[in-house]
Amino acid sequence: MNDYDVIVIGGGSAGTAAAREATNAGARTAMINDGELGGLCILRGCMPSKALLASAHAMHDLQKLDGFGIRFEGKATPDFEAIVSRKDAQVARFKRAKISSIESQSYEVIDGRGRFDSTGCLQVGDRTLRGGRYVIAVGSVPNVPMIAGLDDVPTLTSDEVMRLRTQPDKLLVVGTGAIGLEMAQFFARIGTKVTLAGRGPLLGNLDAECGAELTRALEHEMEVFAPAGLDGVRPEGHGARVVLSHEGQRIERSVDAVLFATGRRPALEGLGLEHVGLRPSNRGLEHDAGMRTENPDIFVAGDSTGRLALLHIANQEGAIAGFNAAGGTPERCIDYRLKMGVVFSDPPFAQVGLSEPELIQSGRPYAVGRARFPETGRAITMNTEHGLWKMFADKETCEIIGASILGPRADDLIHIISTLMHKNGCVQDIIDLPWYHPTLSEVILNVARELSSQLNCPEPVMPPC
Ligand SMILES: Cc1cc2nc3c(=O)[nH]c(=O)nc-3n(C[C@H](O)[C@H](O)[C@H](O)COP(=O)(O)OP(=O)(O)OC[C@H]3O[C@@H](n4cnc5c(N)ncnc54)[C@H](O)[C@@H]3O)c2cc1C
Repeated sequence: MNDYDVIVIGGGSAGTAAAREATNAGARTAMINDGELGGLCILRGCMPSKALLASAHAMHDLQKLDGFGIRFEGKATPDFEAIVSRKDAQVARFKRAKISSIESQSYEVIDGRGRFDSTGCLQVGDRTLRGGRYVIAVGSVPNVPMIAGLDDVPTLTSDEVMRLRTQPDKLLVVGTGAIGLEMAQFFARIGTKVTLAGRGPLLGNLDAECGAELTRALEHEMEVFAPAGLDGVRPEGHGARVVLSHEGQRIERSVDAVLFATGRRPALEGLGLEHVGLRPSNRGLEHDAGMRTENPDIFVAGDSTGRLALLHIANQEGAIAGFNAAGGTPERCIDYRLKMGVVFSDPPFAQVGLSEPELIQSGRPYAVGRARFPETGRAITMNTEHGLWKMFADKETCEIIGASILGPRADDLIHIISTLMHKNGCVQDIIDLPWYHPTLSEVILNVARELSSQLNCPEPVMPPC
């Protein structure tokens, strides 16, 4: 006899979505969560990082007032403690809202760490629970590379940054993914001297052109070495002496700490997966489109998959895993076609669908349209210095298959493209739609017209007048 039809292990975004959908599909459901409820996104991820960045961007905007004809004669001084308290207050608010949404559901929440035992049951403290099916949604932990000497110097991950009470004067940020770029810009804009180093060029795996433009923008605020290697670290005073290699040169810097933003790995250690016939790959847990693992009674969702560590994906995967685990019909499938990624830097970067490196690798014939923000009306009124909108269309069908946007409000603008892609929209659909003037959104018209001039798109069928 099973204790529950579905047991969800992990109570973050993926886990709560899974528990909600399993319950709604009629399953007796329990969600096991180890420690604080709220999930990474609220406690140490999306939300606190955006709260910190909002303070940093506000500080930076003051320094740009001159360009708008406004003289600012006061002195703005970032107050690290106040910035952190503001962030903490917002996190507390988001956490309260999340907990009350969990409490409004009818699944059982059990506090504790789950582990499969040799009989395939789940051990949680001194309880043994048997589920008909399980959803693994245990999230991820920061990945720190093995480098000799690291144990002897002050290091941080994004988890520790959220608990930091003293602002470092000098910081080396290692990692040029979204977290590294956001953390580097946060500290740089509140007065820390930041050196940013990454293995590859900025946004290299997403869009090298936008990456080069972002590098030019960031170089005004920090030292950027990418691609670069971290060749050595040694203690120096209370901080560290770090050695980097970049373009054949050896670069040494003294810093207070090294912040590693070098990715996260699924938190699968100690789950006892061997007892349920699962062996994670180097990346994480393999699954099919219905989020089912190699064990047909075990599903996986969110960062535990090791695939795309993004909140909207965790929510979607969790909902699908929970529904399918509950035996919901017809079975639901994940569609990664509309996957999005955003870096909340200034200028922000956003990408949806197929990236240019993915298109090149796939061999699919495509055309690319471009528009530069600094040459477009609304962006000029905003003194925009950097920005590029790129959009990709299938060469034969003219369907929009992806886009990269670097520029003001890219994080919001990308949803125009994802909406179009959801409806399998084509270049001509964009040209036919009205676009309010002057907006940043209307830049898409320039991009679409450039694409249209390269492609042989069918004329739209207009309804009779
Ligand atoms: C600094 C930072 C900024 C980010 N910013 C963004 C952003 O702007 N946009 C975006 O889309 N994504 C962002 N992310 C990523 C996003 O936060 C994650 O992809 C998402 O929160 C993952 O959700 P999850 O449910 O998979 O994992 P989690 O939210 O981590 O949930 C896992 C839960 O499982 C629990 N658990 C672990 N092991 C066990 C066990 N054995 N038994 C029981 N419970 C267990 C954990 O305690 C945790 O509560 C960011 C991440 C970081 C670190």
